[in-house]
Amino acid sequence: MSKSKYGLNTICTHVGEIKDEQFKGAVSPIYMSTSYQFDEVDVKRYPRYFNTPNQEFLSKKIAALEHAESGMIFGSGMAAISTVFLAFLKQGDHVVVQNTLYGGTSNFIREEFPKYGIEFTFTDGYEVSDFEAAIQPNTKLIHIETPSNPLLTITDIKGVADLAKSKNIVTTIDNTFASPVNQTPIDFGIDIVIHSATKYLGGHSDILAGAVACNSVHMNTIFNVAKNLGGSLSDMTVWMLERSMKTLALRVKAQNKNAKKLAQFLSNHNDVKQVYYPGLKSHPQYNLAKSQMKGFGGMLSFELVDGLDAMAFQKALKLIKSSMSLAGVESTMLSPHKTSHALMTQEERDKIGVSDNLIRFSVGIESKKDLIADIEQAIEAVKSSKLQVQN
Ligand code: PLP
Repeated sequence: MSKSKYGLNTICTHVGEIKDEQFKGAVSPIYMSTSYQFDEVDVKRYPRYFNTPNQEFLSKKIAALEHAESGMIFGSGMAAISTVFLAFLKQGDHVVVQNTLYGGTSNFIREEFPKYGIEFTFTDGYEVSDFEAAIQPNTKLIHIETPSNPLLTITDIKGVADLAKSKNIVTTIDNTFASPVNQTPIDFGIDIVIHSATKYLGGHSDILAGAVACNSVHMNTIFNVAKNLGGSLSDMTVWMLERSMKTLALRVKAQNKNAKKLAQFLSNHNDVKQVYYPGLKSHPQYNLAKSQMKGFGGMLSFELVDGLDAMAFQKALKLIKSSMSLAGVESTMLSPHKTSHALMTQEERDKIGVSDNLIRFSVGIESKKDLIADIEQAIEAVKSSKLQVQN
């Protein structure tokens, strides 16, 4: 574990800045060059080697935030996830994967691993014992996601990391939902942290990117495959990501606060059947979440009472956008069965509890009262249109 001497907001603002020696500008310059001198240099730079100045410096910010030795920026979250998996797995290996996780990751494993002869087992649940039960003699990697997308289940990070270490298995975590502001899994013994930087790290719904943080030995293994797969990010976008990350902690803390209030409001609402938020004392893993998270995050999910249609409700919202992605400063909602989990079969979704009525809510930084008012008016609109149909 490598801890920066700086506080969180200072890391967000300053670590990984490139000093503008020529003009003394206050922010990092962008180096768009795809071609650098090859002789008499310490580093041979090329964008697909993940080592242009902007890539190299922003990686330092990711590493500092995740308490890691090393960081790497990718073209998307899936580029980061697929590269890490392929870096540590080969034909005949087996991987244990948490059953509740982002649909795209699950789809990548189901569709691509058979082509490479990589075996996999999705756990039955997310208890440490579920991971232990799924391990086989050829298991080389365990992948977890906590809080998970979209049901906000919590996995015991240290429990899984300890289990894996005792069997010499590499651990990876998708830390997208928490962000490094709320959770630093390397402190609990996880080997490799992965992000869809499209989400909280970017934070403004205008950047597609991924990130990885780990020790230098693992990073070298990842780099050797990454340069072959070629999933690097353009320097213009790397620069935009650096700019966005200056406000990461401010944004995420505001989102944590709003989400908690919204989760409390929804759980006390007569027209809401169920709320999934790890910061609610009623969440079955509230104590576990509290022990490994510094904040409970800006994501929650909920179901309206039977008879109130989830799609009609989302269409009636005026301020909160119906939107595919998550973690922007603006609040958004979506139905996972039509989006992030659409590639799963109905049976697979039923098994992990993703119902057609489930609504995923990415809480933004707007004024809490305006978000509550929007939800209230949308529920009333659905109820009154139902009454009109009945009459
Ligand atoms: N991990 C999680 C938890 C996600 O929600 C997503 C995308 O929604 C991804 C990974 C994939 O990231 P990207 O879309 O940046 O490839």
